[in-house]
Amino acid sequence: MSEIASQLALVRQSLPAGVTLVAVSKTHPAEAVRAAYDAGQRVFGESRPQELRGKYDALPKDIEWHMIGHLQTNKIKYIAPFVAQIESVDSARLVEAIQKEAARCGRVIDILLELHVAAEETKTGWDPDELRTYLAGNPFAGMPNLRVRGVMGIATNTDDETTVRRDFDALRRCFEELRPMFGPAFDTLSMGMSHDYPLAVGCGSTQVRVGSLIFGERDYSK
Ligand SMILES: *Cc1c(COP(=O)(O)O)cnc(C)c1O
Repeated sequence: MSEIASQLALVRQSLPAGVTLVAVSKTHPAEAVRAAYDAGQRVFGESRPQELRGKYDALPKDIEWHMIGHLQTNKIKYIAPFVAQIESVDSARLVEAIQKEAARCGRVIDILLELHVAAEETKTGWDPDELRTYLAGNPFAGMPNLRVRGVMGIATNTDDETTVRRDFDALRRCFEELRPMFGPAFDTLSMGMSHDYPLAVGCGSTQVRVGSLIFGERDYSK
């Protein structure tokens, strides 16, 4: 069994039933995705639209691709025809632009609203209060090509469990609060990465995004 297949099996075994595993393959070649695919994985996450497009073209069409990185409006066109879920929706402008591209493709695209709860200033996403204000205007009423499936967030990058748990709890509370506004399709709480996903699952995550634990360390210089 390949290293990727064995790592994938380890992560799978550690997840309770009902938690979706997004295998984050950004920066890794199509062959690495293929190895995970051959081991049964079907849901993959990528951060860059052009890289995602290239892998979509090269790989089997039953893969469910998730966009998880910051997305610029002028790059939506690369992924709109096929992307299964855009997890990193962090502005009203991006919402409107995705609706437009989805309509152009005749598709309904699943999205998650990305929340900013971590201590780091640099992380993207809506501040919970900003998101409440935005949603109070009922923006999705005129957007038939978007389906809001839930929220996504990243915890503070620290070894301090109390801080990480606080961030995950904040995400879960927001998720629970917004749920009644959207109905039954709003079922996804995406939180947890390689170093913190067990904690995230303990805090109610329904979708984890795990990269380096499956594919190894990333080399951004390539
Ligand atoms: C890269 C990335 C991940 C995966 O990170 P690992 O630490 O490699 O598991 C998860 N979520 C987002 C938003 C990412 O950009």
